[in-house]
Parts: sequence; C-alpha cells; structure tokens
Amino acid sequence: MLIDTGEEDVEVYMKLLKSGVKPLDYLVLSHTHSDHAGGAVDILKKVGVKHLVMGASLMSDPLYKNVVQIAKDNHTPITWLSKGDVLNLSFGLRIECLGPELKELKSDDELNDNSIVLLMTYGDIDLLFTGDLEKKGEENLLQISKLKTVEILKVPHHGSENAAANKLLERVKPQTAIIQVGPNLYGHPNRAIIDLYENAGVRVYRTDRQGAITVNIQKDYYEVIPFIDINN
Ligand SMILES: [Zn+2]
Repeated sequence: MLIDTGEEDVEVYMKLLKSGVKPLDYLVLSHTHSDHAGGAVDILKKVGVKHLVMGASLMSDPLYKNVVQIAKDNHTPITWLSKGDVLNLSFGLRIECLGPELKELKSDDELNDNSIVLLMTYGDIDLLFTGDLEKKGEENLLQISKLKTVEILKVPHHGSENAAANKLLERVKPQTAIIQVGPNLYGHPNRAIIDLYENAGVRVYRTDRQGAITVNIQKDYYEVIPFIDINN
C-alpha cells in the first residue's frame, strides 16, 4: 500500500518499479493536492494499481478528474473510504479510516481538512496517518472517541503551525513523530511544532533533513531507520 505519491516529478514510481512492487495492491490518495496525488497518474499507468482508494473529494479539481479518468481507462476499481471503514490486509495488518465522512467538497480550501485519516495497526503497534489536516480537521479528529494513543504519528500538514497541535499530541501521545516535508515556501515544518513534540519527549524525524524514514515493524516492537542519521 502506498499512501500518497508526492509531486508528479518525484520519481516514486521509478523506485517502485525498481523495487519490483508491481502492481501496487492499494494506492491511497489522502486528498488531491499535487504534493500528495501528483504522481498518481504515472503510478496508475506505469506501475499499476489493484485498488485506488480515495475519500471526500472536490469533483471539479482537475487532478481529481484526471486521476479518476485514468483509473477508469486502466480498469482500476476505486474504493471510496469513509469514516469507520476498515481494510483488513495480509498478515493481520488492519487499516481503519477515522475520517472524514464521504462527501462532495465545494472548494479547494476544504481539501486539507478533509484528508483521509488512517489508523494502521499491526500487532501492538499503531500508526496514525493524518494527511494535511489543519486546525479544523484536527479538531474534527479529536471528536472521535476511538482516537487513542499511537506509537507513531505522521505529523499533520508537513509540520505546519497549528493551534490544535498540542491537543492532538496530548491525545495520541506518540513516541515517534515523522514530519514528511521537502523544500517549500511556507516555512514547513514550523519550529514551534518541532519544539512542542520534542519538549514532550517525542522523537522527531523529518524527511527534508533525513531523507526517507523507514519504519520496520514487528508485532511488538518497531525500529525507525532514517536514510541520513543526523542524531537529531
Ligand atoms: Zn501537502
């Protein structure tokens, strides 16, 4: 399963081809902003996908239209994920969608806060994937009674400043936080967010400085292996 592709010109699909993962069982697009779904067309065409997974969508979005059309052309079924849906994958890997409800969005401004949120569980280890949630999306997530502590948190929205971040941290109490971020003009990740996590004793990894962050999960423990070890 691949959750988000990065931009079109990021060669995730070349890495997938080289790794021999072909076709993908699942490609999940948390939302259709290009830094998350820009590579989906190439992956659908060149790597192949057995199930494309999407959630609440902006149907007028050109990238959304393109992805859905290519999926149709390639006879790739689309699984529409809504809050409460569960995917049971091989080897006991369980993935639950914590939100949002499936709905049609009206403007681009709604995309981030309606990113698909996934709780992945393998044995005793829980990982929370939060897409690009911002304040409103995080507050919606905090309303979910099922939201519990996790070992690993994919920090929402590239570590951007967020007034709800401390509440999310208190609620999910991660041991490890991973910030997926590259060069950007927005100042991601925000220093205050990194400090918030580090002051709470959370080990923070960030892809802009450490490259790919590999998490090797066994049933009762996990290890995090950054591509570049900077002893942060
Ligand atoms: Zn993003």
